[in-house]
Amino acid sequence: MKAEKDERYQQVQFAAWVGIIGNILLAIIKGVIGWLAGSRALVADAVHSASDVVGSVAVLIGVRAAKLPPDEDHPYGHGKAESIAAIIVAVLLFFVGFEIALSAIKSFNEPIQVPKIIAIYAVIFSIIVKELMFRYKYRLGKKYRSEALITDAWHHRSDVFSSIAALLGIGASIIGGYIGVPWLVYADPLAGLFVSILIIKMAWALGKQSIHNAMDHVLHEEDTAEMKKTALAVPGVLKIDEFLAREHGHYVIIDIKIAVDPYITVEHGHAIGKKVKEQLVKIEHVQDVRVHINPFSE
Ligand SMILES: [Zn+2]
Ligand SMILES: [Zn+2]
Repeated sequence: MKAEKDERYQQVQFAAWVGIIGNILLAIIKGVIGWLAGSRALVADAVHSASDVVGSVAVLIGVRAAKLPPDEDHPYGHGKAESIAAIIVAVLLFFVGFEIALSAIKSFNEPIQVPKIIAIYAVIFSIIVKELMFRYKYRLGKKYRSEALITDAWHHRSDVFSSIAALLGIGASIIGGYIGVPWLVYADPLAGLFVSILIIKMAWALGKQSIHNAMDHVLHEEDTAEMKKTALAVPGVLKIDEFLAREHGHYVIIDIKIAVDPYITVEHGHAIGKKVKEQLVKIEHVQDVRVHINPFSE
């Protein structure tokens, strides 16, 4: 159990670093080329990648905090640190998206130049790198049930669309310049605007999901059926009076009230409760179980 958790932590941390280094490279390459080639779409996409670096750093800090063992002050562990990190990223992305949108809108009133062809190569490179990062992180996130890692993976996927939008904008703009259609040149800042809307949309979805998870969300009926069956199978458990399973990031904490024969000894009742806990923590992702014992009544 211990070794398994250490491995999870190391893998999730490594994935976060892959995301950070990948995005730093993309931000630099696209930023420099976007600026030299005169493409607003590519610069917007570069700013996007740069803000993703900040996002990944937040995930890294969140996962590290989530790994801390329960203490006196946080008896349920620190799993929610992952949700909090995700909320911070969402707020940040929202502002970045807004900023890029404003700059794209302003450019529609200015004369602009056709971007150079090298912008196309940079954006295609970006699409390939982002898709690879998505596949890698999604697989890992599913395996280790990391909420932060999976949202991070989807982020890379939406980044692919962001770069595709940039590619279309840059392409149309270059064609517009080539065939002499001035308004088509504005496809580049238009793509920049589109990229910024994507960022804002994603920030909204991510924020909503993380807030839901941060607020003592309990598992719904279909996810707890197996756990209840396990508890009821323990000899001496006559009924389950209450069953609550809370999600804390990647693990689950159960509060259960069981009913036992009111005429058995306290020691016997305690032994039944202990057995219930033993059986429940064997279930994947169950971290802790709090058992309360009631005397059985009709
Ligand atoms: Zn992104
Ligand atoms: Zn819910």
